[in-house]
Amino acid sequence: MEDVEHIEKEMKLIDDNGVRLDGRKFDELRPVRIEAGVLRRADGSAYIEWGGNKVLAAVYGPREAHPRHIQDPARALVQCRYNMAPFSVSDRKRPGPDRRSVEISKVISEAFSAVVFKEQFPRTSVDIFIEVLQADAGTRCAGLTAASVALADAGVPMRDLVAACASGKIGGVVCLDLNKEEDNFGDADCPMAVVHGTGEIVLLQMDGHLTYDEFQKAMDLSLGAADKLFELQRDALRRRYSVTLEEILKESPPVPPPPPPAEEPPSPPEEPGEPGDSDKELPEEDFGPEGL
Ligand code: UDP
Repeated sequence: MEDVEHIEKEMKLIDDNGVRLDGRKFDELRPVRIEAGVLRRADGSAYIEWGGNKVLAAVYGPREAHPRHIQDPARALVQCRYNMAPFSVSDRKRPGPDRRSVEISKVISEAFSAVVFKEQFPRTSVDIFIEVLQADAGTRCAGLTAASVALADAGVPMRDLVAACASGKIGGVVCLDLNKEEDNFGDADCPMAVVHGTGEIVLLQMDGHLTYDEFQKAMDLSLGAADKLFELQRDALRRRYSVTLEEILKESPPVPPPPPPAEEPPSPPEEPGEPGDSDKELPEEDFGPEGL
C-alpha cells in the first residue's frame, strides 16, 4: 500500500534525465556487500546485503545423499532450498514452501549443477540453503551469488564462481538490477546467472516482455554487473582466507633460537715433562740401548 502511494505520487520510475526513484542511473547496481564463512556449523556459508536484500547461504556436503533411493551412483546431486522468512517482506509471508520458492530452488539447483564437478562425488548430495531475511526484489540473484561464495567456502570443486543479476525495463528504458518498486510496477524483469570464466549463462528467466534489441541490452548490462559481482565474491573469499603475518604470529609464536654454546675456559699453560703429553719427543734411550 505504502509502495502504491509512493509510485502514484512520483508517477515516473525513471525521469527524463534517466535518474531512477532511488537516484541510480540505468546501468547502476545497488550497493552490494558479501561476507564469507559466517556460519560455524555449515561446511561453507556466506551473507550478502544487496540494496534492501539481506540473504544468508549455507552449504553442506558433499555428503551421503538421503534417502538412499535418490542417490545417483555416477554423480553428486546438487540440491537447493530457497526460503523466505515470514518477516522478510512487508506483508507477512506464510511460512513454508510455495510455488515461487519451489521454482526458485529448482532453477538455482540447475545453475549450480552446471558448474559443480559432480562426477567426483557419486552417491552424495551438495545441499545449498538460501534464507532470505529481508527482501527488496532480486532475491534469487542475491541468493545465488551468495551461495556461490558459500560453495567455494565449503571447498566444493567447481568450474568457477557464478554471479547473478537481473536487468529489466522501467518506463520503456532497459535498466540494471530492479528494486521492489521497479519490479512491481516496471514492464519486464530478466534475472540472469553467469559463470565467471566462460561467460556461460546458467540461469535465464523473464517476467514481462522485451524486444530482441532490449534483450541484448539487458544481457550486456547483466554481464557487466556479473564481472563486478565476481570481484566482490573474490574479495569476500580473500578476506576469509588471507591471514596476516600478525595473525600467524599470534597462532604460533616463533620458536626462540637455541642459546649460543657456553665459552670453554682457557686451558692452563702446559708444564714441560708432564705425564700423558703424547706430542712430546721421547728421549733417545727410549728406543733401546743402541739408540736405533
Ligand atoms: N515478494 C513479496 N512476497 C512474496 C514474494 C515476493 O513481497 O511472497 C517481493 C519480494 O520483495 C521479492 C519481490 O517481491 O524480492 C520480487 O519477487 P520475485 O518473485 O520477482 O523474485 P526476486 O526478484 O526476489 O528474485
